[in-house]
Amino acid sequence: MVSVSGKDRLATAKCVIIKVGSSLLVDPQNGQLRLQWMAALAEDITDLRARGCQVVLVSSGAVAVGRNQMQLNASQLQLEDAQALAAIGQVRLAGAWASSFAPLGIELGQVLLTLDDTENRRRWLNSNSTLRTLLQMDVLPLINENDSVASDEIRYGDNDRLAARTAQMVGADLLVLLSDVDGLYSGDPSSDPDAVHMPLVERISPEIEAMAGVAVSATGSGGMTTKLMAARIAGTAGCGTIIANGTQSAPLRALINETGKCSLFLPDIKPAQARKNWIAGTVQPRGRLEIDTGAGQALAKGASLLAAGLTSVSGTFERGEVVSICQMGGGEIARGIASYNAEELQKIQGLRSEKIPEILGYEARKAVVHRDNLVRTDRGEHG
Ligand code: GLU
Repeated sequence: MVSVSGKDRLATAKCVIIKVGSSLLVDPQNGQLRLQWMAALAEDITDLRARGCQVVLVSSGAVAVGRNQMQLNASQLQLEDAQALAAIGQVRLAGAWASSFAPLGIELGQVLLTLDDTENRRRWLNSNSTLRTLLQMDVLPLINENDSVASDEIRYGDNDRLAARTAQMVGADLLVLLSDVDGLYSGDPSSDPDAVHMPLVERISPEIEAMAGVAVSATGSGGMTTKLMAARIAGTAGCGTIIANGTQSAPLRALINETGKCSLFLPDIKPAQARKNWIAGTVQPRGRLEIDTGAGQALAKGASLLAAGLTSVSGTFERGEVVSICQMGGGEIARGIASYNAEELQKIQGLRSEKIPEILGYEARKAVVHRDNLVRTDRGEHG
């Protein structure tokens, strides 16, 4: 039975992105960081990690914290002021998170992303590999947009969509957007007594989009509209989204104990399937790898493609690009993401894995195309 409540999803997710909005982090009365609230969320996240779930934290608040530090009260900030305030606030913000997690024995690794880092393929690969490595090291990635260098035209401006792209990047199965709203209502609950809360959204239909046109948070940049856009982005990558009210202390525990309100948006597909669809749907693979019969048989049994089975390599491609895998002199049987670039593969084709470091001068990756990154195209596996 598929779990269809926010609680069940949070209790069973394997990789979760938690996005915290500015309105939760900064006390509206005095503009100070809510350190106790942060410490309680750190404990919530520690609980998730303790059951083997990977967590990435996306935190807003740099501009709000910098603004308070510099006592800048102007209601509309000039872009350059906002960029400077983000630079100032980010230091404090990251420091406060580091102090919240230190007593729990959790190390943080800060990654400040720009739109280019998620939209440009090469930069996407770099960010992706940094995030994966941090997770492998059991370090908690702390992410924000690099507001200090992002110009108005080339920026997210809201961390909801940045968090959704991050979820796609690391193959997360759940995105949790914590802010000061309970999730989606059928109308504006502050003015419409008939507005009902929607605990589950199976599909983001035009009616659902119309509902999101209301209820905008005062402190953050993202209203319900950007949250819905985020849910849609995450959904296409097989990642569910929870929009939850995080104002109370330990909001994740509240969701697990069913004392907190949220809306769960179901994804259309599973993350692994989303990845395979993306690979299979590549319009133009960048290279062609020919393989011998033994490798073909191994692939048919679901194994990864190793250098030993490669008989020829053509095309110009970088590590991380999609290549077509063909029988010697024959048609395509599979597609996959190459773990090496074309030049490297030409040097190591036909070699056993233990020989590769000698030839390349560095430690070999396990496979030329890992089976998680491989999809058979000769038998409609991706359909
Ligand atoms: N990146 C912004 C900040 O840290 C916040 C963006 C948002 O509110 O979503 O100040």
